[in-house]
Amino acid sequence: MAEKMDIVVIPELNKAEVRTVDKPEVQPGKVLVRILGCALCTFEQRMFTGVANVPKPFIGGHEVTGVIAAVGEGVDEKQFPVGKHVAARTFYSCGHCYACRHDEGNLCENGNEADRSWMAYPGIGGLQQYMLLDRNQIYMINDDLPLEKACFAEPLACVLNSIERGHLEIGEDVVVIGGGIMGQLHVMCAKLSGCRVIMSEPDGPRRELAKKLGADICIDPTQVDAVEEVKRLTDGEGAAAVFNTTAVSAVAQQAIGMVAKLGTVVMYSSQHPDKPIEVSPGWLHNSEANITGAVSPSIRSFRRSVNALSKGIIDPELLVSGVFDYHDCQKAFETAIRPDTFRCIIKF
Ligand SMILES: [Zn+2]
Ligand SMILES: [Zn+2]
Repeated sequence: MAEKMDIVVIPELNKAEVRTVDKPEVQPGKVLVRILGCALCTFEQRMFTGVANVPKPFIGGHEVTGVIAAVGEGVDEKQFPVGKHVAARTFYSCGHCYACRHDEGNLCENGNEADRSWMAYPGIGGLQQYMLLDRNQIYMINDDLPLEKACFAEPLACVLNSIERGHLEIGEDVVVIGGGIMGQLHVMCAKLSGCRVIMSEPDGPRRELAKKLGADICIDPTQVDAVEEVKRLTDGEGAAAVFNTTAVSAVAQQAIGMVAKLGTVVMYSSQHPDKPIEVSPGWLHNSEANITGAVSPSIRSFRRSVNALSKGIIDPELLVSGVFDYHDCQKAFETAIRPDTFRCIIKF
């Protein structure tokens, strides 16, 4: 009889529950990871609340950490030792599409090629006691790093990809719009990059947290014209980089108004709904500014993220809003969707 494992599924809207299914067996060339923790990202929250509609039951979970439980035939046990703590890049990169051939695996269009035939239900699969992964999805992480911090490997990797797109340089001004978890991670990374960091966020407690994490100046866009204020703070020049971490199109428009000549605007967050904004070609011509985006963790940003967490260069402790046993998954989801929380983590 097959061994069993527990998983957390979303069987219907606003509900999370534990189910018991067959535990996957390790396969040749693959690594079986015993999951220790999985964070509930906006993606999982949207599945739970129905903002994103997916067939149910659904297994979420892409911000995972665990230990190697077994390796398949052909996998070097010295390179992948059983018991080693790891983080997993669950995002699939096929290696053969246009983006992958440009070394930008985060833009891969063939995510559906990922082999998830071992899973009992559709989904990404982090919210399970075991995950079957390819070697190139596994990143070694410091064994002493608490699981709630190790779960940040994926979101921090997304942010480091964004920071890379912003081309930050020491001494420059950076604006981060939005003080949610992704905005706060941008603040930490921009500060470490040697920039003066300006945060625009209407919520007082979020502005205070940004200050603790390295923001030099916080502005309240409900009290001042955020674009004018950034211009004033930068002697009329604008910021060298602007990261928009909100899903509001009017704010995306503001982000473009804040950037300096030759500067870069990074549209970090996904847009719901995705309403077009206006950009003047004449202004682009005269400013040589760049407008770009950042999505998912790249292969290289994931590596740097794991290093930064392992070595304590980035400590996400203040962004952890709770660690829940997986039997309390309903409470974990309900806490995660509250606007005043950052990351909630489910422990297996
Ligand atoms: Zn995520
Ligand atoms: Zn690809």
